Amino acid sequence: MSNKKRQARWVWVVSGPSGSGKTTLCEALLKDSCLKREVVKSVSYTTRGLRPGERAGRDYVPISEKDFLALDKSGALLESEKIFGFYYGTPKRAVLNAQKKEKDVLLCVDVKGARSIRRIFSHHTASVFILPPNLGALGARLKKRSTENKKDIEKRLRRVKIELSYMKDYDYVVVNDSFTDALNKLKAILTAKKCERTHVLHSARKPH
Ligand code: 5GP
Repeated sequence: MSNKKRQARWVWVVSGPSGSGKTTLCEALLKDSCLKREVVKSVSYTTRGLRPGERAGRDYVPISEKDFLALDKSGALLESEKIFGFYYGTPKRAVLNAQKKEKDVLLCVDVKGARSIRRIFSHHTASVFILPPNLGALGARLKKRSTENKKDIEKRLRRVKIELSYMKDYDYVVVNDSFTDALNKLKAILTAKKCERTHVLHSARKPH
């Protein structure tokens, strides 16, 4: 078996408060010429309507609440959470398909979803928490992107404290004060993690 085949696949989990820039960082990460061959993004189901600029199937799969609950009941979701009044869930097949294609999968999920994913994939999960440089920056970023109304922005800001209390569970924390630096750190984390001795040796004994 080639070395490439022997590499186990990682489940990458990226979380962070609304406005931390995690989505933009993940998008940029997937454009990296090396990583894009190795990593695929899971596209979540959500009952939240698409924002301007978001595309169905690329950013989210929009779905009615009734269909979401039916999907969840059928066991098609790896995890699901209700956040800001909407349901979000990771499709099981996104991870299974990635593993079949021998690729890593990147999940951009909230802190509770991340906890569920860690429980399922244990040592194959690596998690990164994206931290804004300061909490003041969050409100400013949310207002600047103007995708939420005032009430929704307040809801998102109120949740930040809860999200920060989960930061201790993450393997890495990246402060997004400079986008380029944060992206380079994220790329470095993925690259180093893929070369971890225990991971490579474990994968060699138990090929996927
Ligand atoms: P937004 O509405 O800003 O796109 O996402 C709201 C929150 O839901 C973010 O923290 C985002 O990471 C999270 N999220 C997106 N997809 C999923 C998912 O499939 N599962 C969970 N648990 N959270 C998700």
